[in-house]
Amino acid sequence: MKIVFLDRDGALIEEVDDGKIDTLAKLAYKPGVFEGLRSLREAGYELVMVTNQNGIGSEEFPWENFDRVQDALLQKMEEQGIRFFDVCICPHMPEDGCECRKPEIGLVKDLMWDCEMEPEHSWMVGDRSTDVEFGKNIGVRSVFLKNERFELGEELKNDPEVYEVESFLDAVGRILKS
Ligand SMILES: [Mg+2]
Ligand SMILES: [Zn+2]
Repeated sequence: MKIVFLDRDGALIEEVDDGKIDTLAKLAYKPGVFEGLRSLREAGYELVMVTNQNGIGSEEFPWENFDRVQDALLQKMEEQGIRFFDVCICPHMPEDGCECRKPEIGLVKDLMWDCEMEPEHSWMVGDRSTDVEFGKNIGVRSVFLKNERFELGEELKNDPEVYEVESFLDAVGRILKS
């Protein structure tokens, strides 16, 4: 199976200043995201969302606030004809030292094996170096979405399996060219 793994915040939807998309008012889609995801599906890619969500379940970020946004997002995707093969969420804090926070691969390890992922035909798309490191850790090529908040690490910039692009549709274009 060929899979495109997708970060959520900053990739599919706009990142926010406090890093917590916990109300519908903060939910805004990236330009071209529906069209891009449909193109990937039409080209035979399965879509897997992989997202770090710091501290869901805490007082500042209750599960119900996360779910309200996530449910709206998935419903919107459905309306746009887009279904995710899987949605993987790490709800921990960096200091928890869990095995599921990107760039760790705990969230997708079983899925990769069960689905017989083809690493040479699979991709990761994200807006942080940790997304790209995650891609490397699972053995796929990565597309980094240039943005004003996060820089791609120097050593990753020179990596031949890492591509920097300006927009989500450029990322899709890069993948479809492969
Ligand atoms: Mg992100
Ligand atoms: Zn985790």
